[in-house]
Amino acid sequence: MAEQLAIHGGQQTVTHDEPERWERPVQKEKDLVNDLIDRLEISAAGSGLPKEFEDAFADYTGAKHCVTLNHGSTALEAAYYAVGVGPGDEVITPTAGYIGAYAGALHMGARPVFCEVDPDTLLADPADIESRITDRTAAINVTHWNGRVCDMDALLEIRDRYEIPIVEDAAHAHGSYWDGEHIGTVGDICCFSLQGVNPYGKPLAGGEGGILTTNNDEYYQRQLSYCHLHRSGMREELTHEPYTHLDYEVLGKKYRSHPLAIAFAKVGLETLEYRCNRRIAYRKQLFERLADIDAVRTVKTYEKSDSGGFYGGLRVVFQPDEMPGVDAETYVSALQAEGVDAGGPGFHYMEHLRYQFKQGYDLWGNDRGPLGGEFCGLPTYEGYSKGDFPVSEELDQRVIILPSYIEPKPGHLDEVVAAFEKLEANAEQLAAHSPTKTL
Ligand SMILES: *Cc1c(COP(=O)(O)O)cnc(C)c1O
Repeated sequence: MAEQLAIHGGQQTVTHDEPERWERPVQKEKDLVNDLIDRLEISAAGSGLPKEFEDAFADYTGAKHCVTLNHGSTALEAAYYAVGVGPGDEVITPTAGYIGAYAGALHMGARPVFCEVDPDTLLADPADIESRITDRTAAINVTHWNGRVCDMDALLEIRDRYEIPIVEDAAHAHGSYWDGEHIGTVGDICCFSLQGVNPYGKPLAGGEGGILTTNNDEYYQRQLSYCHLHRSGMREELTHEPYTHLDYEVLGKKYRSHPLAIAFAKVGLETLEYRCNRRIAYRKQLFERLADIDAVRTVKTYEKSDSGGFYGGLRVVFQPDEMPGVDAETYVSALQAEGVDAGGPGFHYMEHLRYQFKQGYDLWGNDRGPLGGEFCGLPTYEGYSKGDFPVSEELDQRVIILPSYIEPKPGHLDEVVAAFEKLEANAEQLAAHSPTKTL
């Protein structure tokens, strides 16, 4: 029987306002933070709590080297320096991406070269990356969005064939694995963010902070020399040329983490696995039930990927052919009206359509930099336009964001599924009220 949709004034399907029942161990955070204040350990690098946490995270991931920084984005900047990105280079990065993932390379004078995503996984498409490699490509940047791991086999194969390092943005992937190996040990150099507060911040969150991991001694020493001035024990760690000649003030930059932020992350590490496993179970249940909903397709993960974390929620893609006369925007509004905390449609951003990448930009003033005229071997910047990335741009109209939960209130998942079922059963009603769209 036809039911009035909530968007048209009918009864809302989802009844709970705040479904998440998991609570942060706030007392533990307070105890550790107070302890640091009492001991006046509020600045330390290579020692004290930051070092304890680095050892714990290295242990957890299996990474040979692990170092904390003040942000995920500065960890990425240090990673670009580590792999040798400089003026006149190109760095490939997905347009369905994030500016903070590659800004570090841009400010070193490298030009971002955007690429497409794989429509099944919404992650950087290795074949498309390969088609954009030139003799100026100095790094490939990929993001393990929402904890879903990129196709590391294909990416590492490209790395080996072209000898181009992969800089991984694992801001969402503290609990993710590829073929049984923890992210942070699979590729060349990997950066995590500690931004925000749990349960909705980065999988490990301490307000602000970052982590860099690598198994590569050269990359490790090079990033130490870049931004870890005054770090305890660093002089002894700098054994490679030319870093070994530097003193303890190295190259003068200081991107160390704040111990109070690391205190949160250290407490968070105790529950990371639990939170990831609960979210994986939630996704599995939800996606199994959404398989019966024709109007959306659930986003896939690669077979070898085990993904935890789920920062930024889960992704499904609206299927307009299955719901004639309804567009993704109306569909999302109808879900929201039913009480589903849905977002979108769309990716975070289409990077190539930001002003500076469409028009070019005088980055350093006086007509200098990688987004203007000829620069350090780079040809004049051509700029991007709408239509340059048909796969990503088309998906950008249809990607829907759904929250994932650690301990959802009992019955919540059933109600979310019921909301999708209600729209499915009343598709004609939804179409009749949709703004008519000529395609
Ligand atoms: C959060 C985030 C970063 C870096 O974050 P900081 O806020 O600098 O810690 C990088 N990439 C992605 C995709 C992110 O979400």
